[in-house]
Amino acid sequence: MQTDFIYEALPTRVIFGEGKLDQLAAEIEHLGAKRALVLSTPQQEDWAQKIATDLGQASAGVFAGATMHTPVSVTETALAQVKASQADCLIALGGGSTIGLAKALALRTGLPQIAVPTTYAGSEMTPILGQTENGVKTTMRQAIIQPKTVIYDVNLTLTLPVGMSATSGLNAMAHAVEALYAQDRNPVISLMAEDGIRALAQALPVIIESPQNKEARLQAQYGAWLCGICLGSAGMALHHKLCHVLGGSFGLPHAETHAVMLPYTIAFNAQAAGSHLEPLREVLGTSDIGQGLAEFADRVAAPRSLRDIGMKEDDLERAADLAMTAAYWNPRPLVRDEILTLLRIAWSGGKGVA
Ligand code: NAD
Repeated sequence: MQTDFIYEALPTRVIFGEGKLDQLAAEIEHLGAKRALVLSTPQQEDWAQKIATDLGQASAGVFAGATMHTPVSVTETALAQVKASQADCLIALGGGSTIGLAKALALRTGLPQIAVPTTYAGSEMTPILGQTENGVKTTMRQAIIQPKTVIYDVNLTLTLPVGMSATSGLNAMAHAVEALYAQDRNPVISLMAEDGIRALAQALPVIIESPQNKEARLQAQYGAWLCGICLGSAGMALHHKLCHVLGGSFGLPHAETHAVMLPYTIAFNAQAAGSHLEPLREVLGTSDIGQGLAEFADRVAAPRSLRDIGMKEDDLERAADLAMTAAYWNPRPLVRDEILTLLRIAWSGGKGVA
């Protein structure tokens, strides 16, 4: 039992359940706001427009230009619309990309946000923002970035394609797994991590078989919520650092990168993390964590190599160098050549531990 820790709860109001999007207008009022600008990606603009129409007087319009890695140029365009629309709150309808845009706008305006997540990425539960400018992604942590309200409505996840459901779910699991061995872990977050991993491990294989299964979708969303809290509350380690480098500097897709890397990074850390990873061993039903995660990724048909998601072999050396720059704390000490070996195995999708 852990007997020495700090626990700090993050202040977000969470509305969870089927059909809860109906409560959006009431939640705007609950914030003391009157006019919400609805944000989305171009792919989800139809939903955003419908929400704006349903809100009527409480809508300040739609900005549907959100994109991955929160480019500052997009934020500036959206900022002009926020000012012109006289919005007094923001609604982010979508995955981590749209929620990232809302956070970037909150940082610049102080406006409160309501996040309505439609993937399992977990950004809605964190005070963390990653922004990209001139090809460099930088991350910050500030209380003002944290969404005030989150509405989890399972109906909005039914259209998430199965491939994205699997990779986004593995992205969520990665938050919880790294929280288990975090330097600043604590018993409450460890409980959430364990339950979050279990929920996703049970739900994802069902979703892959039947994407419209609401029970499984609810379970996955519940797991994603818990994993998001883990991400917001505990320090992340090598797995997140490598995914940050691969996404931010080599343009790899976020969820897929997490899905590919997870079996390799956790196998790399497994021995050093020791008993902290016991809950994961239990859920996977094996003491060989790397193999267990690899088999789970195969079961949900997730991509299994960096090569398959667009990484060039020639870039692996530079990725290893970047991973060693401002490295995060990690249970196993980081040695550049071992990281390179890890990346090489992940690139080829091979078996083995670096
Ligand atoms: P995303 O938001 O980029 O969404 C991927 C695509 O799926 C988009 O085209 C989106 O419109 C579409 N989509 C989303 N939900 C859908 C649904 N239910 N049905 C159909 N299509 C849907 O993907 P993501 O993985 O959620 O987010 C990735 C981004 O979030 C990255 O930029 C990452 O850095 C960031 N992120 C940040 C944090 C944080 O705490 N700051 C945490 C996790 C992710």
